[in-house]
Amino acid sequence: MSSTQTGGCLCKKTRYETDKETVHAIQCYCRDCQHMSGGGHAPQFAVKRATVSKSGPIKIFRLKSDAGNDVELGFCGECGSPIYKTTTAAPELMFFFVGSLDDPAAFGVAHKVYEGSRQPWDKS
Ligand SMILES: [Zn+2]
Ligand SMILES: [Zn+2]
Repeated sequence: MSSTQTGGCLCKKTRYETDKETVHAIQCYCRDCQHMSGGGHAPQFAVKRATVSKSGPIKIFRLKSDAGNDVELGFCGECGSPIYKTTTAAPELMFFFVGSLDDPAAFGVAHKVYEGSRQPWDKS
């Protein structure tokens, strides 16, 4: 069975495997994603949390979203690469940042969200 996808961080100490079937594919332009990623937006995909297995020194940062949800961001505790996000708005899901995939080219068309916060130089 090859219905999984794998990814991890820059230093390769944090790794994950998820179901290949994604529930959402979004490209988020919110300010939180800009801060977290250091870029203009954060492409991410959601999978069912129950299909996820991960390993490595994950460091967790918690924040409250503008909508009032409790958000948890998972970074590699060694190199700091952003890996995933969870939110109490969809507790059954886990959102992974696309750049962490072993094969980011497999990411499909993303639904754009929070475009009101998009920076004028961010044309993607
Ligand atoms: Zn790392
Ligand atoms: Zn965002």
